[in-house]
Parts: sequence; C-alpha cells; structure tokens
Amino acid sequence: MSNRRVGLWLIGACGGVGTTATLGLAALSRGLTDTTSLVTALPLFNGIDLDGPADFVVGGHEIRQAGFRATAAELHQRSNVFDENLLAGCQEPLAAWEANVRTGTLLGAGPTIAKLADRPDANKAKTARQAIEQIKADLVAFKETNKLSQVVVANVSSTEPPFETSEVHQSLAKLNAALDGSPLPASSLYAYATLDLGLPFVNFTPSLGATCPALEELAVLRHTTVCGKDGKTGETLMKTVLAPMFAHRNWRILSWVGHNIFGNRDGIVLDDPINKSSKIKTKDQVISGVVGYKPQTLVSIEYIESLDDWKTAWNHIHFKGFLGTKMIMQVIWQGCDSLLAGPLVLDLARLSLFAQRRGEVGVLKHLACFFKNPHGVTV
Ligand code: NAD
Repeated sequence: MSNRRVGLWLIGACGGVGTTATLGLAALSRGLTDTTSLVTALPLFNGIDLDGPADFVVGGHEIRQAGFRATAAELHQRSNVFDENLLAGCQEPLAAWEANVRTGTLLGAGPTIAKLADRPDANKAKTARQAIEQIKADLVAFKETNKLSQVVVANVSSTEPPFETSEVHQSLAKLNAALDGSPLPASSLYAYATLDLGLPFVNFTPSLGATCPALEELAVLRHTTVCGKDGKTGETLMKTVLAPMFAHRNWRILSWVGHNIFGNRDGIVLDDPINKSSKIKTKDQVISGVVGYKPQTLVSIEYIESLDDWKTAWNHIHFKGFLGTKMIMQVIWQGCDSLLAGPLVLDLARLSLFAQRRGEVGVLKHLACFFKNPHGVTV
C-alpha cells in the first residue's frame, strides 16, 4: 500500500463507461466486489507498485447535467446491471466525486454530440486556446484541492466524427500558431490541456485525441505519456483472438462479417453515419492487421433501443480449408458494453500512472493489447 493519493479525471465522466469505472473504484475500495475482470489484478502484476482503488479520487468533464448516481441508477434500471446493495453502498463516494465534475467543451465535437448537451456553459469556448485554458484550470484545481500527487486523464466521451489532420498538426509550433482558431476536435483539446500540464492521457475512444505528431511532441516535451485508441473490449477482442487461429492453421479467411446491435447512448451517437464511420474504421481494420492480407470484411453497427447496454455481435467467418473446401464459423457475442469497458479504463489508469512514475515518456506502445487501433503500433 502506498500513501499516494491519485486522481482519475474522466472526459465524458457520467456516461456509461465513465460511471461504471467510477462505481467500480468505489465498490473495490469498499470491499463490495472482487477484482474479476481487472487485468492488473492478475498474479502477473503482483509486486508492481500500482495504485490501489482506495488511493483514487475521481472527477471529470461532462456536457450533460447527469451525475454518477443518476447514470448508475439508469443503467441498473434499464440494463439490469449492478447489485442493489453495491449501489447503495457506493452512494457516498459517488456523490462526493460528482461534485468534482465540471462543464466540458463542445468545440469541435460535431452536431450529433452537441444535441446531447444540456449544460449551458458547454458552448462557452470559441477558440481552441480558450477551451484548453479552461480545461487546464479545471485539472489544476482538481489536483490542488484534493492534494493529489498525480492525475491521469481518460477520454471516455462520445465518438466524434472523423477528423483529417493536416500540415498544422505535424508540429507543435505550427499547432500553437493556430490555437486562436479551431484546429482541433474536442478530444484533442482535452489531450492538449492534459499533456501541457504533464499529465498522462488515455484515449479509450476512436476520436483523434493525442494521435497526431504535434501532440506526441507535446507529450515528450512535458515528460508525460499517451495511449489509445478505442478500447478493445468485446467483439473486436474476440476477433483478434480468433484471427490468429485461422492464420496459424493456414486457413484462408475469405470474408468476415460482423453485425453489431445495441441500444445505449453511445449507440445513439453512432447512429449518425458520420460518427459511426470513426468506429467502423477501428473495428474493421483488425483482421487484415493480424493475417497480413485483406479478406472482404463488413462491419455494421445498428442502434436498437430496446437492447440498452447489451450488445449482440454476430460474426460470420467464411474461410477456405484443404483442397479448396469452403467452411463457415459463426460466433454470437453478447456482452454488456459498460461492464466490459469500465475495468479496462481502471487498468489503463493504473498502468499510465505507474509508467509516469517510472519516467516513461511518449506513446506507451506496450499497452497496445488494450486497444482496437493501437497508437504508435501497426500490429
Ligand atoms: P455514453 O454516451 O454513455 O457516454 C459518453 C459521455 O460523454 C456522455 O455522458 C456525454 O455527455 C459525454 N460527452 C460527449 N462529448 C463530450 C465532450 N466534448 N466533453 C465532455 N463530455 C462529453 O457512451 P459510453 O458507452 O460510455 O462510451 C464512451 C466512449 O467509449 C465512446 O466513444 C465509445 O465508443 C467508447 N468505447 C466504449 C466501449 C464499450 O462500451 N465497451 C468500448 C470501446 C470504446
């Protein structure tokens, strides 16, 4: 046990993933649940100086007025997750941490995400520089008020539309010169503010975040770390486990179709074809990355409201075996999205804080296995 107090700052704090990670920390620190599903609780990590659940204080940015308690209650009611005793036993830390949530920025988030917002100040910043200064002020206040030795920032906010980088994003000097305009999506404004303060940044979403040379440069300059993109929690995790089997048996994958249906708030945002294209890109590229060629692939994501946080993913894999014989494997994955993602956010927070204490800087390539589209790694 260390005597450190550390902070977990969540962008999109009171969404499904943010709330589940927060509730998980509260429940773990109060002994109301065990460590099942936390990778960093495996014996492999024994003896490593990771922060314990009770060492954490949570805060974050939101664009909606919902708090941790309301979202946890909503998930419980709509998706039938979380034990009632566990929920009751965590109300106190959830209420305390809710008070640390501040209004985030909608600058560069796109119109579909803007429709979710009901905090009046979310539109306040008109330039990247204004947004970054506000985010930095919130982070500094959180760290100082709670007397934290370190703070890690994890982006678990809604998936943004795809963002094409340009010359401006190739160096920090060029980006800095453009900050009086709006050269970055919201996820990257949060990344900029975080890194500029020397704090580690985790991008659990497919949004741009810190994945451009200018922000990688900032991470190194400020001696801090980044990792991302898009947590590999369910269907894609299964794909990256199955694809090597086909490769190692020298079977040829002819086509791989993945059809996803689910009904949570992430699904509402992904129902916009533009936002959806960011997600499809990270989900669709994993097979060819593993097998080294490009079979025909199709990934579809559909919002089916009645399913709430429960995702069904049907995978149809058509492959060629000996003497040209074609065969089919079909797998149906049924997982609860937030419950799959929450513990990985905690793993990534603990590992990022640990890496920073060890003096690591820049992209944490060893965390690639946690992501669909690992930052800085091609496999
Ligand atoms: P959600 O809609 O429940 O939560 C997202 C939250 O972000 C909402 O509360 C929203 O108000 C907030 N938000 C949006 N834009 C913001 C901004 N600019 N600033 C501050 N807050 C903002 O979605 P979720 O199910 O919690 O998923 C969160 C993210 O994690 C999504 O991008 C999703 O694609 C990604 N992800 C989820 C999983 C999983 O659930 N298994 C796996 C991989 C990646």
